[in-house]
Amino acid sequence: MSKYAIVIHGGAVTMKPGELTPEEEAQQREGLRQAVQAGWAILHHGGTALDAVQAAVSSLEDNEHFNAGRGSSLNLQGEVQMDASIMDGRNLKAGAVNSVRYVKNPIRLARAVLDKGQHVYLAGEGAVEFALREGLEMASPDYFEVKKTRKQWLEIVQQQAGPRQQDTVGAVALDQHGNVAVATSTGGIEGQLKGRIGDSPVLGGGSYASNDACAASCTGDGEVILRGALAHEVYALVKYKGLAIAEACREAINLRNDDLQGDKGIIGIDIQGNIALECNCNVMRRAYIVGDEEPVVAIWRDEV
Ligand code: ASP
Repeated sequence: MSKYAIVIHGGAVTMKPGELTPEEEAQQREGLRQAVQAGWAILHHGGTALDAVQAAVSSLEDNEHFNAGRGSSLNLQGEVQMDASIMDGRNLKAGAVNSVRYVKNPIRLARAVLDKGQHVYLAGEGAVEFALREGLEMASPDYFEVKKTRKQWLEIVQQQAGPRQQDTVGAVALDQHGNVAVATSTGGIEGQLKGRIGDSPVLGGGSYASNDACAASCTGDGEVILRGALAHEVYALVKYKGLAIAEACREAINLRNDDLQGDKGIIGIDIQGNIALECNCNVMRRAYIVGDEEPVVAIWRDEV
């Protein structure tokens, strides 16, 4: 049987000790385990990397303990505004959406854009109209907003806290047929301006996949990741410089470090099934399963 593997992340961020409660940490670990299993089951049964990354990311979107789908952080207006992208390394087909509301799973919407094949990017109201036409599941604002995100938003508007970085979810996979794929989804940065677009929906920024090298999904300071085109940087380092995937992710994170300061995390997988989970901050929620091995789940940078 050919090698197959899946790697997921639930956001990279710098956290002070005590900022993550033990209950929240336990729930995030359980959420990561469920999501990685959902993607792995598809790979294990011979399904595609594209379906696997979508399944893993949908699971994280449904989980209010991650900043994507339900539990997305709120923009300055107190609204949910979500971004997502998905890319198939087989043929470089891709779909991406940004500033989307009401769509229960933005990653399914990005997938519908990919499957339709007419366009790659859809934004805002146009993307929501497309979702309705495609019959995707919709939800009212109170499905997405949770106690924690409302409280964080209130702290920002009452100027008790500045805008904070708020994580993202993503997945990369290699299937038994030798294909790689990536999916990334986010509620963005809490307190962001309406209409702000981070790296997550941008191909080459937060997501990239190509069967001639690897797949990569980023998390962290979106403006910085965008300016460095970090997902494509990982691809280029593997393809043209022949770096191992972990080395490529580390080099991408350190690219022009003086100009590109911020939290950065990248997961990657190459076409041999080697995996990478790299970050420059103390937290990156992450999990992986390689072949039929046991799942590995971690949150703190130094724990595995
Ligand atoms: N990269 C995401 C964004 O800028 C946020 C994050 O990953 O923390 O929207």
